[in-house]
Amino acid sequence: MQSKRSTTLVGRSEDASAVQQVKDSLQRLFFELIVKFHQSSETLDLEISFYPYAGLNNTIRLHGSKVKVRISDLLQTAPFSVHNALAAILVYKLFKKRVPEKAKTLFRSYVSTPEVRKAIDDIKRERGYKQITSAQGNFYDLEKLFHCLNQKYFNNLLPQPTLSWSRRHTRRTLGHHDRIHNAIIISRSLDSRSVPPFFIEYILYHEMLHVKHKSKIVSGRCYHHTREFFADEKRFEKYREALEWLPKFRRLKRK
Ligand SMILES: [Zn+2]
Repeated sequence: MQSKRSTTLVGRSEDASAVQQVKDSLQRLFFELIVKFHQSSETLDLEISFYPYAGLNNTIRLHGSKVKVRISDLLQTAPFSVHNALAAILVYKLFKKRVPEKAKTLFRSYVSTPEVRKAIDDIKRERGYKQITSAQGNFYDLEKLFHCLNQKYFNNLLPQPTLSWSRRHTRRTLGHHDRIHNAIIISRSLDSRSVPPFFIEYILYHEMLHVKHKSKIVSGRCYHHTREFFADEKRFEKYREALEWLPKFRRLKRK
């Protein structure tokens, strides 16, 4: 089992019995940790499943004595030590305990290896919800806004990514820079006459800064908003107004 699992560092196993073995091993890991915190361990009903998330999402839920664990199938072939660390992270969080540093560090360093990063990117490309529609909205044209901002703040030097309104009227995420598809997606909820130009410009400007500033990896953790990023963001002319307008926008949408 160990040799089989070490051949592919990341991904899904095709072999059903190998998958079952991994599940059994995870079952033991989680059970041992959960009984540390859960009172009625005899009745504990633990269900572990692999799930084809478009990334590395892992969840744990507790309902009475039933514990449901969902693990990204990308982690199916991860080494035992990584499964051990993941179990600790999820279980400690579930019971609101401090996650041991060792587990955090081990898991983080695993998911930041180039192989794992590449696998995540590949899977996102494959499964990721394609959001791209068009840059021309009912009220605002993202291309026009992009060119104005590029001239004003970037000396026209920022390469133009794909610009698109989101397919859905997302409220929580107003803008998003999709590194994999080299695209900026702006929430369709902003394409409205009740949204002032400076606000949508601010949202787009923020995403343009993600094109300009590369993310930084510090001790295995990825930072998208660096100090340089925030300094640049403050150059936006109506920065304060835009920030002040954000709660107004949220209220507006709730009506
Ligand atoms: Zn951002």
